[in-house]
Amino acid sequence: MANKFTFYNTLDRKVEEFHSREEGKVGIYTCGPTVYHFAHIGNIRTYIMQDVLIKALEYAGYDVKRVMNITDVGHLSSDADTGEDKMVAGAKREHKTVMEIAKFYTDAFFKDFDAVGNKRPDVVEPATNCIPEFIHMVEVLLEKDYAYVAGGNVYFDTSKLDDYYVFSSSVEKEALEVGVRDDVEEDVNKKNKTDFVLWFTKSKFEDQALKWESPWGVGYPGWHIECSCISMKHLGEYIDIHCGGVDNIFPHHTNEIAQSEAYLGHKWCNYWFHSNHLNDQSGKMSKSKGAILTVSVLQEKGYDPLVYRFFCLQSHYRKPLVFSWENLDNTVTAYNKLVKRVSELKAEGAVDEAVKAEYEGKFLDAVSNDLNTSMAITVLYDALKADTNDATKLALVESFDKVLSLDLIGHAKALADAGSSVDAELEAYINDAIARRAEAKKAKDFATADAIRDELLAKGVEIKDTREGVVWHLV
Ligand code: AMP
Ligand code: ZN
Repeated sequence: MANKFTFYNTLDRKVEEFHSREEGKVGIYTCGPTVYHFAHIGNIRTYIMQDVLIKALEYAGYDVKRVMNITDVGHLSSDADTGEDKMVAGAKREHKTVMEIAKFYTDAFFKDFDAVGNKRPDVVEPATNCIPEFIHMVEVLLEKDYAYVAGGNVYFDTSKLDDYYVFSSSVEKEALEVGVRDDVEEDVNKKNKTDFVLWFTKSKFEDQALKWESPWGVGYPGWHIECSCISMKHLGEYIDIHCGGVDNIFPHHTNEIAQSEAYLGHKWCNYWFHSNHLNDQSGKMSKSKGAILTVSVLQEKGYDPLVYRFFCLQSHYRKPLVFSWENLDNTVTAYNKLVKRVSELKAEGAVDEAVKAEYEGKFLDAVSNDLNTSMAITVLYDALKADTNDATKLALVESFDKVLSLDLIGHAKALADAGSSVDAELEAYINDAIARRAEAKKAKDFATADAIRDELLAKGVEIKDTREGVVWHLV
């Protein structure tokens, strides 16, 4: 029986207790990256928080299946279907083909995704793999009269829905309506301002690289259709949780719901989990804005990617997080202290199961309370201070790291090994110095012998001549 688990459901605009459709099992869909450029550390924050959600659900006893798409076609420079395809623009920028760009940035994405301790999704599917599924969904939407063809493109007709703005309060709806109305580039083919493209055949950009045959002519899919189809392909007609960053709420997730529920004829997903953005001091981080700060760049600058994960876990996923080097440096200090503390634990004695269960309960309470990761870290610190033996503490660190994924034990071992190799090096040096001093004394070169003794002392090593030979100790 899985434990009680709560998080903020954007659909109902409140923190809710989670109930999976199937006892003990969770189907999760997460919108993947658009692979026209590197994923910045803001994007990676979103994937870290999703990873923590999944691992926390597993910690609570659920069996989780996660599916993620890779957007390699159809995402235009504006989320409202205007502008150039981001992939095409990326390919032009780098004088490469769209597929070369997609491969390069998908690999780069997963390098950073893995480096911050994330578990790979069970299924990763690029949009370009699923064109027949997209065409099928568009056909069904046309048959059901939820879509129409105009000016060569196929559009979803949002006026057919009772409640298109499913995520928004009435005040937010008004603001969104104004926003959509004021959208600079107007598409005259649209019957309603909020209608969106399911399939393009008319592109203003003649060099649209990726195109496929379809009943409506040669063209390419709109952006939103991929997530509906890819999730249904691997998770069936229902998903438990759909994840993304807050910028995905409108229009992307709003449109996903519109077309999925129109297609299926029933509710599609019960819980929507959105994490907030990482901002730099000048505002929201964005791929199209100047130099991109990636996890790999952090690594090149000497930061452990897990320190960045620790940085993210210290704040709540629903709050914007401001990145600064000073904050990251403070996190380095905190992480190193934590690792040092863990490295001092000795794996001796038997684990006190009662104490272990008590702290595991506290940890689970924290993560299942709207994913309170900073509280979970406090529980870790409390466990390290607890009145119990080291074996129990080590067992707790190992247990909590199933969710935190900070590799605390691995890093602690590395620290201990580095410490012992330094000791070995020091010992070899001391023995060599003692031997050199003995040689000097034998040759009656007392000045050199004294200099070697002083040299050792400067390194914190004091030597004494005894009847048993030279002995040394650290001062
Ligand atoms: P994209 O590759 O642009 O489609 O974005 C990948 C994911 O990162 C999406 O779920 C976005 O919502 C999310 N995202 C975009 N910008 C930020 C940001 N500054 N901070 C956190 N997440 C972001
Ligand atoms: Zn999506």
